[in-house]
Amino acid sequence: MQSDASLLPAAPFKLNLESSYTSLPAIFYSPAKPTPVPNPKLIVFNEPLAAELGIDLSDASDAELAALFSGNVLVENSTPIAQAYAGHQFGHFTTLGDGRAILLGEHLTPDGKRVDIQLKGPGPTPYSRRGDGRAALGPMLREYIVSEAMHGLGIPTTRSLAVVATGENVYRENVLPGAILTRVASSHMRVGTFEYIAAQGDLESLTALADYAIRRHYPELLTRENKYLEFFGAVADRQAQRIAQWMSVGFIHGVMNTDNMTISGETIDYGPCAFIDAYNPGTVFSSIDQQGRYAFGNQPAIASWNLARLAETLLPLFHTDDGEAIRLAKTELGKYSVAFNAYWLQIMRSKLGLITEEPGDLNLVQTWLGLLEKHRADFTNSFRALTAEKLPEEPVFQDSEFASWYALLGERHRRQAADAAPALMRKTNPVVIARNHRVEEVLAAAENGDLTVMHKLVTALQNPFADQPDNLAYRAPAPTGGEPYKTFCGT
Ligand code: AMP
Ligand code: MG
Repeated sequence: MQSDASLLPAAPFKLNLESSYTSLPAIFYSPAKPTPVPNPKLIVFNEPLAAELGIDLSDASDAELAALFSGNVLVENSTPIAQAYAGHQFGHFTTLGDGRAILLGEHLTPDGKRVDIQLKGPGPTPYSRRGDGRAALGPMLREYIVSEAMHGLGIPTTRSLAVVATGENVYRENVLPGAILTRVASSHMRVGTFEYIAAQGDLESLTALADYAIRRHYPELLTRENKYLEFFGAVADRQAQRIAQWMSVGFIHGVMNTDNMTISGETIDYGPCAFIDAYNPGTVFSSIDQQGRYAFGNQPAIASWNLARLAETLLPLFHTDDGEAIRLAKTELGKYSVAFNAYWLQIMRSKLGLITEEPGDLNLVQTWLGLLEKHRADFTNSFRALTAEKLPEEPVFQDSEFASWYALLGERHRRQAADAAPALMRKTNPVVIARNHRVEEVLAAAENGDLTVMHKLVTALQNPFADQPDNLAYRAPAPTGGEPYKTFCGT
């Protein structure tokens, strides 16, 4: 296929690429080249992220950026590969791999960080099975928006550097415009990467993977006596913190399969994800999650289930005696729930403006959440309303149970430094989240070639705690009535 882009020189692209993943045994990856696309067009380029990473593309034209981030032009030192992995999808083990993603390499930032630069949707790889290796514009823009929203909220996540339209259609239930997302991640190792190699019964490669993961993400553990057990504990602790953060902003991942849970602790794989509006722990938005396995309130327990799968893969490294290995794993896994509860309560305290700790705090939080659920109150706006320093006017608050709760909160605030609460609550309760109807509005406009709607939303999401007139429009919940919101898996 002849493309304009193939005529472009690779010169102005200043990416500082290396490849350490390919030092792992060859079973972990396959060489894979992006399939050129006919008419790449730059949809969005994340300049602040590029600056943060020390990627200077200021000399590159939009056409050159489109050529680069479609994979039509490969930068110097790129070692394009697709990574092998497996995973439990909705509880069932499957062998997977990057079926529609290609890792271009690892970029070294000026401050010495190593980040994966990956194209999502660049065409088939050896792991594509029957898929086309492509992605549609809507889901790639959703990933861009929601990952940037999570970053704005201070929640570790993969980032989105660019989205390029391919000029080709992809064929799903409907015919959709194709696109490629450039994803930046501290790595793409997943729980499923360990499951993949454990399932092969290849202890040497499993050890190589664990050592590599420790070196890359937990180097402080390299010299520990049982570094593999501590590695598992460290991953579990990061996930406990991450899920607590999700729960604190009403984020529903939607498809917490083990292949979508990272070793680094970054939130990854924005498919049927969404933010909760009316508070209900049973909320499910994903059209493919019919049993509610990944419902909002199930996320902490599912993370523990996924971590148990990770622990199983590492058993032979924990101890040579099977029984002892299992005992060690159980003890370590047991720490996850304790850690999750502690992280969660700490965040919830700050959302209620509590800077000190009292034994009654958990009860205070739970009563509040119970009231939100009973009144189907908007999660984000109700928390934010607490910063008002007077009885908020939202309908949820016009209730005697709420009035007594609010009085308790007031007493609780008076038992700590005066005036501490409002400032803390303003820092921890966002004004703006990526509301589902706003995301849908962006996607519809983008498919009609209008990107201004997206730029406005992304700008608001970069500063989600700011109480300012220009984000007023993004605070309203979706108009009520109509069908419950559904997201569709982003393939
Ligand atoms: P996901 O639901 O995005 O986590 O993807 C699950 C698995 O399906 C991964 O191994 C993907 O690489 C693969 N996959 C999803 N969509 C496609 C596609 N269009 N072509 C090939 N593989 C795909
Ligand atoms: Mg995935």
